[in-house]
Amino acid sequence: MISLEYKLAFIVPYRNREAHLLEFVPHYRRLFPAADIYIVHQMGNAPFNRGKLINIGFLYVEDRADAFDLSDVDMLAVEGHVDYSFPKAATHLASAASQFGYTMPYPTYFSGHVLLTAEHMRSVNGFYNDYPGYGCEDDCFYRSFIERGLPIDRRYGRYESLPHERIVDKDPALMELFNRNWDIFNLNPRDFCNGLSSCEYRIGQVHSFTDFTQIDVHL
Ligand code: UDP
Ligand code: MN
Repeated sequence: MISLEYKLAFIVPYRNREAHLLEFVPHYRRLFPAADIYIVHQMGNAPFNRGKLINIGFLYVEDRADAFDLSDVDMLAVEGHVDYSFPKAATHLASAASQFGYTMPYPTYFSGHVLLTAEHMRSVNGFYNDYPGYGCEDDCFYRSFIERGLPIDRRYGRYESLPHERIVDKDPALMELFNRNWDIFNLNPRDFCNGLSSCEYRIGQVHSFTDFTQIDVHL
């Protein structure tokens, strides 16, 4: 158990990773008994959109916590090897995840778990909404702080990654989206009009379970 002096909420973009969810929830429930866990569940079969789901989750919980862990469902924090003290800037935590050999996959990696306040999230208008499929939303998020001259922090943080297939390499449609995302990301600076302020979606059912809240969203 890790005690915190502030209210923490997990925002977890999610679809179709039930085995991971079944590990994620009890793990973080045990580590942070007072934290809230929000699973932002993308409905339908459109390409998964991690950045947009995080934006939607944030808009839903913004006033309900002091800081937010933008969390992948498949990375479990290792107690004693993570630092969840209150973030002074948007703070990358997942700098030593097992899926990357407990090191950074590349120097500007800014994904997996990012701890921040509403002010930090608002300062860059959240995530760019239009990177569906796979890739770029996290690099774009990182670059948003750099472009605005805002500080970021990075802490040592050890995480055990849960195994899953890497479907982007096998699915030509996903690969095409990835290439498209990559072109947009490389050729343009961040469009700061695109983000929390322009996020269009519809919330369906909200399930309040004992250990977590699941928000069904239609993009
Ligand atoms: N995710 C999900 N369903 C998907 C794809 C992604 O729930 O079909 C969420 C999940 O939280 C996952 C995160 O998005 O941990 C990042 O995706 P993924 O694990 O595929 O990316 P990786 O970083 O492992 O390449
Ligand atoms: Mn993963």
